[in-house]
Amino acid sequence: MHVFGPNELLADVLNTGRCVGCGACVNLCPYFKTYKGRTAMLFDCNRATGRCYAFCPKTEVDLDELSQICRDTPYPEDPLGFYQEIIMARAGARVGEGEFQDGGTVSALMMYALDSSMIDAGILTGREGLIPLPGLATRADEVKSFSASKYTAAPTLAALNDSVNRGFQKVGVVGTPCQLTAVAQMRGNSMKEEGFADPVALSIGLFCTWALDTRGLLAFIGKLAPGETIRKMRVPPPPAGVLIVETETQQLKLPLDEIRALVPAGCRLCPDMTAEWGDLSVGAMEDETGWNTLIIRSEPGFRLVRKAVAAGFLETAQYPEESRRHLSEAAGLKKRRALEELGVCGLLNTAPEEGRAALRLNRTVIEKLMNSAKEGA
Ligand SMILES: Cc1cc2nc3c(=O)[nH]c(=O)nc-3n(C[C@H](O)[C@H](O)[C@H](O)COP(=O)(O)OP(=O)(O)OC[C@H]3O[C@@H](n4cnc5c(N)ncnc54)[C@H](O)[C@@H]3O)c2cc1C
Ligand code: SF4
Ligand code: SF4
Repeated sequence: MHVFGPNELLADVLNTGRCVGCGACVNLCPYFKTYKGRTAMLFDCNRATGRCYAFCPKTEVDLDELSQICRDTPYPEDPLGFYQEIIMARAGARVGEGEFQDGGTVSALMMYALDSSMIDAGILTGREGLIPLPGLATRADEVKSFSASKYTAAPTLAALNDSVNRGFQKVGVVGTPCQLTAVAQMRGNSMKEEGFADPVALSIGLFCTWALDTRGLLAFIGKLAPGETIRKMRVPPPPAGVLIVETETQQLKLPLDEIRALVPAGCRLCPDMTAEWGDLSVGAMEDETGWNTLIIRSEPGFRLVRKAVAAGFLETAQYPEESRRHLSEAAGLKKRRALEELGVCGLLNTAPEEGRAALRLNRTVIEKLMNSAKEGA
């Protein structure tokens, strides 16, 4: 991949509104900071190359190269990315009660990973009001305080960088697809550093179609329910077309058409719905409330699931073929939209004389993805 420095990151991503505030460039040096969902470069830095640029999921991401490094195989034509198996899952009896988003699979897996010492720290995302706050759990009993989805772009990876600075060597991270793209670039040693040791022992991705800008949502909800405490957010399956925000006193139904303006521009360029770079990826089950879709993508992911089931932390069931088809269609549609947008913006496979690209992917796979998504649409 082409690696540039902080000034190029500023020009390509922060100054163009492409930033989705993932936090991958934060806590690597004193220059990049995050505050209330926004990332900013506070001081000048003229390095020609930097980890900030190398990790960012919104510039010069080379999917073919990432696939070779992370999966040892060419980037697949399958809209769901590379995977071994798709199953249904939910938290098992050992997990107990919790305020989970869906089936509690993510919390259950992180609890078991900590309990069994597969990881020594878990990077999770809590919140204060509507502001998502990354955090670190070192014990299984700390995991549940982070459960449930915050539908705002979160600087989760600032906590991952911080955990590496603090010397954790077996970190587990839960993140959205863009965050896990950055994690894959970290794990793949995109800066080619000598003596590099991968600090991440487990990555669990969340399905994601869009996230909202934190400050935009704060202003939006501030008008509808001033001063109220937010209890939970959820997006019911189509055709509902709303984001439900539960406060202490009311349930706000925000039409997706009205909040679409709060989606950062970077999300429209995002080709990944199912967190393809995770060891495991987790999303909702549209027709089965209280269960999750769980995609197993790596050997460590497979072993974790098997052991978590045996230890009573996880329950699994067979995944319906009809659901796999729907999931694949939805993921394909997201890819087609993103590839079209990237093409229109001149950010796909950009030639050197034209500037830098946001995404690189071989033409054959692009054409197959575009055609299969069209057929499925
Ligand atoms: C922005 C966003 C968009 C999503 N869009 C979809 C979608 O389109 N389709 C779909 O099927 N599922 C989507 N999900 C995933 C879904 O909401 C659930 O997170 C998933 O099904 C796991 O459920 P669970 O019960 O296992 O999670 P829980 O056990 O409740 O755990 C949730 C985990 O999510 C992490 N988390 C919460 N918010 C964030 C955030 N903003 N950034 C990073 N990590 C976070 C927490 O650390 C926690 O560990 C989305 C999630 C997010 C955060
Ligand atoms: S997308 Fe992430 S890595 Fe890129 S500039 Fe924004 S916060 Fe930094
Ligand atoms: S749509 Fe893509 S870029 Fe936006 S928050 Fe989700 S994973 Fe990140």
